[in-house]
Amino acid sequence: MGAAAQTVVLASRNAGKLAELQPLLAPLGWQLKPLSEFTDRLADENAPSFVENALVKARFAAAASGLAAIADDSGLLVDALGGAPGVVSARYAGPDASDADNNQKLLGALKRVPDARRGARYVCVMVYLSGADDRLPVIAQGSWRGTILHNPSGAGGFGYDPLFFVPELKRSAAELAPEIKHRVSHRGKAARHLLSLLQQSHG
Ligand code: IMP
Repeated sequence: MGAAAQTVVLASRNAGKLAELQPLLAPLGWQLKPLSEFTDRLADENAPSFVENALVKARFAAAASGLAAIADDSGLLVDALGGAPGVVSARYAGPDASDADNNQKLLGALKRVPDARRGARYVCVMVYLSGADDRLPVIAQGSWRGTILHNPSGAGGFGYDPLFFVPELKRSAAELAPEIKHRVSHRGKAARHLLSLLQQSHG
């Protein structure tokens, strides 16, 4: 199978993530389609690990579309909270929680935690399945360290970005231009890793 001709479904329901992923995967030259073109249904994301959730999402998208699929699963792991919110990052404050609800809950959980112990990292696992019954998924990971601010700052990005401070850049993730975030983020790293694995196996 050549890298050029493929149409691949991107198994994301999050418009922010879709917008980040599309340019990251552009070098493959594949046509990427959102899952919403094929179904309104969503995969259950209740697995205990990021990689399992990513595989569930990719398999669901491949089955719904009849195409190859790329999915990612990501989240925020806060040191002082033993890695919470982790795999439940999107619904930390409840099943229908908004980003603002989740950020509020995080600030509450870290209320008495001093700056020196507010370390955290974003992680992302990104997988590729050639079809719903692919027995050899391609799997990549990336992570991004930062600290959790005491108040939201910045209007870009999504999710926990207004609270995620990047010491090297002296800015929150929500204050970074998208191309800078792509360069340094967990998702950018996972996407470049996946890209290089796919170029080796499918190029
Ligand atoms: P997923 O859609 O199951 O991968 O959930 C990812 C959740 O983790 C998002 O809804 C956010 O709450 C959080 N998250 C992951 N990556 C980022 C990011 O780049 N910025 C902000 N929040 C993120």
